[in-house]
Formats: sequence, structure tokens, C-alpha cells
Amino acid sequence: MQKSKVTKTPDKAEEKNAETEKRIPKCPQLLRGMKDILPESQKHWNYVRKIVEELAEDYTYERIDTPILEETSLFARSVGENTDIVEKEMFSFEDKGGKKVSLRPENTAGIARAYIEHGMLDRPQPVRFFYWGPFFRYDRPQAGRYRQFNQFGFEAIGDSNPIIDAQLIVMCQSLYQTIGIPVVTQINSVGCRECRREYEQLLTDYLSSRKKFLCEDCKRRLTKNTLRILDCKEKDCKEILADAPHIVDHLDEECKAHFVKVLEYLDEADITYQLNPFLVRGLDYYTKTTFEIWPEKEEGSQSALGGGGRYDDLVEVLGGRPTPACGFAGGIERLIISMREKEIVIPPPEPPDVFVAQLGESAKKKALRLVEDLRQKGIRAASNFSTEGLKYQLSVAAKLKVRFSLILGQKEMLDKTILLRDMEGGSQEVVDYNKVYDELKKRMEKVKAIIKNGNNHSEE
Ligand SMILES: [Zn+2]
Ligand SMILES: [Zn+2]
Repeated sequence: MQKSKVTKTPDKAEEKNAETEKRIPKCPQLLRGMKDILPESQKHWNYVRKIVEELAEDYTYERIDTPILEETSLFARSVGENTDIVEKEMFSFEDKGGKKVSLRPENTAGIARAYIEHGMLDRPQPVRFFYWGPFFRYDRPQAGRYRQFNQFGFEAIGDSNPIIDAQLIVMCQSLYQTIGIPVVTQINSVGCRECRREYEQLLTDYLSSRKKFLCEDCKRRLTKNTLRILDCKEKDCKEILADAPHIVDHLDEECKAHFVKVLEYLDEADITYQLNPFLVRGLDYYTKTTFEIWPEKEEGSQSALGGGGRYDDLVEVLGGRPTPACGFAGGIERLIISMREKEIVIPPPEPPDVFVAQLGESAKKKALRLVEDLRQKGIRAASNFSTEGLKYQLSVAAKLKVRFSLILGQKEMLDKTILLRDMEGGSQEVVDYNKVYDELKKRMEKVKAIIKNGNNHSEE
């Protein structure tokens, strides 16, 4: 302090600022790659959640919630030790007991673990699950990609029939169409462990002779996870891959028959799909069918809306009995970006039934009670107690698009009455306070009947 006085003479305001800064530390900021979902964005989230839940119910997928935190080894063993997700992108740490744990980067592994741990093999198969929640990857944040992101997904565990794969694709396509986003499915087969081993050797041979043209990442992948090279977005690697052998040409009889069946079912269901021989999805647990759902005709679209496939070995790899399975996961942020781009109109929520307005302290007290009484009788009542002005309160009511308002002022308090205002047209009636519920209900029924008749007329 002494020194600063000598070297500099700060003015009073500056001095004060410095003092405040010392006392109140700056507010901590949002972590990089994280995001708040503010109330104004929630309508998109609620709408997507509603459609996912309805679809899950139609197809008898039941909700499951697994923890966000799992043992690191769960993901290392399922997603794969040599994948980008496990190698570079997991939020992993040691807990206070010294156990290695990770924030879940995806949900299939956690659900397979739950399936084994709760002995669900004894239930009628396949057991169908759906989920919705946050996932974490310590990735380089880019537009529309966050370190905490949200996904919904469907998993059908315990059935090897190709119709399960096909129906899952039909269902997911229908989800996006319902929301209003035309989509196309890309599909491939990565075979089983046996045919993949053979193909991996073929691909390694092909790429080894061209190794010097590959990007640095792919050079490394060549010895550890060759299939991942098929996913590479680098131009040079893509050029080399153009002539690479395709895995679908090297499937054994069983895997080929499975793939052909899936495509037949999709044809039958009139599903538009494109064969993509390079679609391997970059996770170790996939077998046979892999697929991704892309927005149709979206030029330069960088990422799929979602993807999935079969994972017939996963339950066994994690220590359960051999159990075939198939699943899909969709990104919610990615979907909402598409909805905004397409300017999809979300149906507005039903307005409250009534707005309770008040004027004066004693009316305020009574109104507080009235709102609660109405709510308990099944009437959705809105209010705004933070302002005194009646005009302002009624403008809030208009904004909420409520049909009726109840107004309680000093005069009404004395007369034990209340004003019932029809917001359409603005007519007002004085009603006995003790009969407010009956009077309101009567008018609500009347409006409902008019709306119903009106609809009937238009149908004729
Ligand atoms: Zn095979
Ligand atoms: Zn590459």
C-alpha cells in the first residue's frame, strides 16, 4: 500500500474498484465445452423428450437410468482400449478410495452392465430399454459439440434376429420424420469377430504398402486399430481408401445372410438407406449391422444425428452369458440445431385455465390462498405476485393466453365477491367469492363444448 502511494496516485474510484475486487472474487465461469440450457431453450428439449417417450412407449422400450459415474474398466473393456474415446476423451480420475472411475462417454456399456448385474437374462427377451441423459467426452469443443452433451437411445438386448435391427432403424427414422426432419440411413456390416479378423488382415496389407501417404493418426492406427482408418476424414487417407477392400465383400455366410435380411426388411418397410462400406462407428463392441442416421440433403453436414448397431459380443465380453443385442443413440443438441435450422414450429403448451390478479395487501393474501385452492381442485391457475399494478398483471395473463382471469380488489374483499373476466372480449361479471370454483368451472365447460362443436363442424 505504502509503495503504490509513492509510485502512483490512483483516483478515488479506481481505489474503490481495487478494494471491491479484493473482497469479492470474480464469479467462476462456465467450464470450457460446457453449457447452460436456459428456460427459453427448454421448449425444444421438452418437445424432443415427449416424442422420444411416446415412441418408446409405442415400441415397448422401458426407461432405464444408469449412473453417470462407472468404473473406468467398464469402458476400456467395451468401447475398447485403443479407441479415441477411451484413449483421449474420457473424464477419468481416481476417487477417494483409489478406484479408477470415469464419467460415462456413452450408455451401451452401462446398460449391458446393468443387464448382467440384475440378471435380466431371466426376463422375456429381448429386454428393451430407452434412456435420456448427459454424457461426457473431453473432446476439442466445436460448434454444436460439447464436453457434456445429451443423448437419448434405445437398446434391445437378447435377440439375434435381423428384424430387430430393421425395426430399430424404422423406429428411429420415424422419430426424426415425426419431428419434421427428413433423414436417410447409412448402413454397413462389420461382421462378427471371425470375419472381421480376416478383413482386418486384408485391410492392413492393403494400407501397409501405402503407409507413407496416411496421416499421422492413421499411421498409428495401422498397428493398433486398423478399422478406425476407415473413419478418417483426412483427404489423403480418403483417397487411399477409395480402392480399399470392402468388409461386406468378406463376410462369412452367417453374417452375409444377416445383413441381406436386414436390407430386405428395410426394403419391405420402404426405408431409404445408403450402403456405406466405410461405416465402422469407431467402437470395438459393434458386430454385424452398423448404421447412422443423417439429415437428408443437408449440404456439408458434418455429423450424423445418431447411430448404432448390433453388439452381439458385448454382454459376454463384460462377463455375462453370450447375449446378442442391438441399439441406437441420438444426439439431442445436434437434433435441436437441425430443428432450429429447419425452423420447426413447436406446438405451444396448453395455457393455464385461469389467471388470478389482485390489488392491495389483503387481496394479495387471499389470492395466494385462492391459487392454491384452485390448483388442488384441478384448475391450473397462474398468478404474478411481484407487481401491484392490475394493468400489468392482466397483460401477463394475456401473454399466457388464458381465457379467464379472476380479479380480487379492495371492493371485492369487502363484498366477499370476485370479478370474473373473460379475456376474449373482456366482459366482466361479479360472482360470489364462495361460488368462484363452480362459476369458473361452468364457463370453462362451456368454452370446451364450443371448441368441440367447432371442430366437429370443420370435419363435416
Ligand atoms: Zn461373421
Ligand atoms: Zn487418416
